[in-house]
Amino acid sequence: MLLEVTNLVKSFGGIRAVRDVSIGIPEGSLSSIIGPNGAGKTTFFNLLTGIYKPDAGTINFDGRSLIGLRPDQVNKAGIARTFQSIRLFNNMTVIENIMVGMHSRLDISLRHTLLRTGHFKRQEQLVHEKSGMLLRFVGLAGKGDELSKNLPYGDQRRIEIARALASDPKLILLDEPTAGMNPQESADAMSLFRKIRDELGVTVVLIEHDMRVVMGISEHINVLDYGQKIAEGTPEEIRTNPRVVEAYLGRRAVGGKADNDSAA
Ligand code: ATP
Repeated sequence: MLLEVTNLVKSFGGIRAVRDVSIGIPEGSLSSIIGPNGAGKTTFFNLLTGIYKPDAGTINFDGRSLIGLRPDQVNKAGIARTFQSIRLFNNMTVIENIMVGMHSRLDISLRHTLLRTGHFKRQEQLVHEKSGMLLRFVGLAGKGDELSKNLPYGDQRRIEIARALASDPKLILLDEPTAGMNPQESADAMSLFRKIRDELGVTVVLIEHDMRVVMGISEHINVLDYGQKIAEGTPEEIRTNPRVVEAYLGRRAVGGKADNDSAA
């Protein structure tokens, strides 16, 4: 397992957002976490990435515990993420936004920057080459100098993913990456998620409500409900699991969005 979470607990006052959740993510896998609104999915990501500290439980990643690490330290350890609502610097260009994601991997002191040393110039060159590569990788070649805010929604999501990849993660956590996308954008996004795993070797975990995406690309699915893990399995096992159907998938045939979700 690249990531092994055991008995994770997080409460906010009286709300038990995550209750005793244990999830293992194998290296090189592509999986999803699903569940109704308020099930604890985003809180789970926030616990993994150091935004919240768990009340109890363990989080082991790539051979070390992440408990007590700050978000920047978790990022340095090899986990990158995107957020449910797009968080870009709107008045920066696409390429500048991608460069921001690289800062945790750079080794430039203020002295090097002020003196524009050879080391600084080599790092700067590296940043330009890598951000250009990522721009092409996510399908935004030729758009590097545009302001992020001027790009369509689906492209802005791609910038976020490129920024996350810029930190050279071993694991990328994507929080509702296709929310608000039209069907064509979602289909294109699915290809990108596969490419991230297949070509970059990065392990991918999605929180996702769109069942076409979840069932279409996940090798494994974990299901949360009221902060608890109620099921895990292959798409076929999850699709036919009575408890999951009851809690989340509803009576609607799986293939579209789940009944009880209107936000996705
Ligand atoms: P969605 O699909 O709507 O994004 P989710 O599964 O990601 O939902 P969370 O956002 O993790 O669910 O929320 C789980 C529960 O914890 C909810 O009841 C939510 O209101 C609560 N919660 C989350 N963050 C906080 C917080 N910072 N303070 C108080 N309550 C919180």
